Amino acid sequence: MDPIADRLNLIKPSPTLAITSLARQMRAEGRHVVGLGAGEPDFDTPLSIRIAAQKAMNEGDTRYTNVDGTPALKKAIADKFLRENELSYTADEITVGVGGKHVLYNILTASLNPQDEVIVCAPYWVSYPDMVLLSGGSPVIVPAQAPLYALPFDGIEKAITPRTRWIILNSPSNPTGQACTRKDLETLADILRTHTHVGLISDDIYEHLVYDDFRFSTFAQVAPDLKERCVTVNGVSKAYCMTGWRIGYAGGPKILMRAIAKVMSQSTSNPCSVAQAAAAEALNGPQDFIADHNDVFVQRRNLVRDALDAIPGLNCPNPQGAFYVYPSCEGLIGKTSPEGTRIDSDQTFARALLNEAGVAVVPGDAFGASPAFRVSYATSTSLLEEAMTLIARFCNRLS
Ligand code: PLP
Repeated sequence: MDPIADRLNLIKPSPTLAITSLARQMRAEGRHVVGLGAGEPDFDTPLSIRIAAQKAMNEGDTRYTNVDGTPALKKAIADKFLRENELSYTADEITVGVGGKHVLYNILTASLNPQDEVIVCAPYWVSYPDMVLLSGGSPVIVPAQAPLYALPFDGIEKAITPRTRWIILNSPSNPTGQACTRKDLETLADILRTHTHVGLISDDIYEHLVYDDFRFSTFAQVAPDLKERCVTVNGVSKAYCMTGWRIGYAGGPKILMRAIAKVMSQSTSNPCSVAQAAAAEALNGPQDFIADHNDVFVQRRNLVRDALDAIPGLNCPNPQGAFYVYPSCEGLIGKTSPEGTRIDSDQTFARALLNEAGVAVVPGDAFGASPAFRVSYATSTSLLEEAMTLIARFCNRLS
């Protein structure tokens, strides 16, 4: 008997896993490996948030809650949307899930019919296409142009068919760190105004991680007339250093939020009660540590960007946000490493970099845009400095 459902064959094992497991194996063998793959801040969850969680536990906040979020957390989310995004959502227009990932999955599961199409621009966050496939839909990949990967408006418009259900937008982007300006969002809104059957999912998980005075805007804020066709997704993982707590949320049309609650009522039930209390404190409490963290992130971004861009064969644009850079390695394709590996793709580059220099990066193939690779700078400055020296030495020895 084959215990695995056919639909699982639609999704591929993450190409990032190959590198991650190789790095793990090398460490187990005693080799020193600098990992630049992590998609999470290296800072601790702020104390005030941890204290709120302890208080919740001690006061008996340990039982089932409303499936789609406690009233207290929904109020904190509604206040956040109003305060930071000029968006007014009522409690029944808000859902809370087990991380932004779960919220996105719920949106797709609750809204897609078989063969409905979802437009995803490449490079994309690795989970979007596979989540669409698992929800019965078809991802339609629209390539953006290297090295800046600005939104490919023409490609998006050409990809729209009568079956298009959603466009997924992620700004600042994982993996490029590039962020959409107000003008970008206005152009996108014009496309949606022409195609009235299409909705937009705005994944704002990196909203607070923006640098150099970049001003973040979200889609529904820029196009209030399209708010009913938009779902605004966010979470506490990145800005509040709460990746392990697993709380994400979204604001969107009541009918969709009700459908998501139905899905959750028969699958996960509510997200952890204590984590919800902690997330409410994150959104309601002091926000000043975000700017402190960003000061560190911007220094690290500059360090990594300058070091990579100075290496012949690499081209590293300057991203406005998140904690990733996504340099092109096109100039290294066709070269051979000192140990004899021919670099014919970003996958062989990443593998040789790991094997021969002990630095783990994620090849662009994982994000649907090659030849490039993603470096996460959410790690200590000293490790980043070491990694940049090792990458430069490796690249300079290619012939
Ligand atoms: N969206 C993007 C673009 C991400 O990079 C991530 C996490 O890496 C998520 C959503 C989901 O984050 P979480 O499920 O931790 O809230």
